[in-house]
Amino acid sequence: MSSEPEVKVLLSRQEIAATVNKMAADISRDYRDRNPLLIGILKGSFIFLSDLVRQLDFPLEIDFVAISSYGRGRTTPGELKVLHRLKSPIKGRHVVVVEDIVDTGLSLAFLMGYLGKRKPASLKLCVFADKPSRRRVPVTIDYPGVTVPDKFIVGYGLDWDEKYRNLPDLSYIEPIR
Ligand code: 5GP
Ligand code: MG
Repeated sequence: MSSEPEVKVLLSRQEIAATVNKMAADISRDYRDRNPLLIGILKGSFIFLSDLVRQLDFPLEIDFVAISSYGRGRTTPGELKVLHRLKSPIKGRHVVVVEDIVDTGLSLAFLMGYLGKRKPASLKLCVFADKPSRRRVPVTIDYPGVTVPDKFIVGYGLDWDEKYRNLPDLSYIEPIR
């Protein structure tokens, strides 16, 4: 018997590439002459952001933030903290937040509020995977990728206990029985 969970593919690397190409085309159309600042949320977005920016052939800048995660239960966005701060001022910039997955929405509700207070010229959200079934606060995804079922997603940057981020396909793990 193995203590490792079973990993199943949800979206192949080819399907991922097609999704990223489509998202990149939408972002290119809107940001070609705006020198946008793309802000990736660590750590999960690092592979998606890397794929995305290599499909964008116009001037842009990249920065990262990290936010604390919350435990189970009665957390509100107000209890989250920014752990790794931006190196670039965002006042007057066209900002696109790049995230791996939205689940409850609490992290992004908090982060979009935090960034919005710093007076960017515009602030939009690009999310690779949307898991709408567990949403607790509304989140507007301006550049959506794919919708995923209520499973624990791993791969393509997403981890289970820091493992599986390197899986090239978007996958999910079955609970250990
Ligand atoms: P939220 O619940 O605030 O929308 O999501 C917070 C964070 O939890 C996401 O940015 C992501 O890092 C993590 N998360 C949410 N759902 C999943 C999932 O299915 N798999 C993994 N690996 N992380 C997830
Ligand atoms: Mg995340």
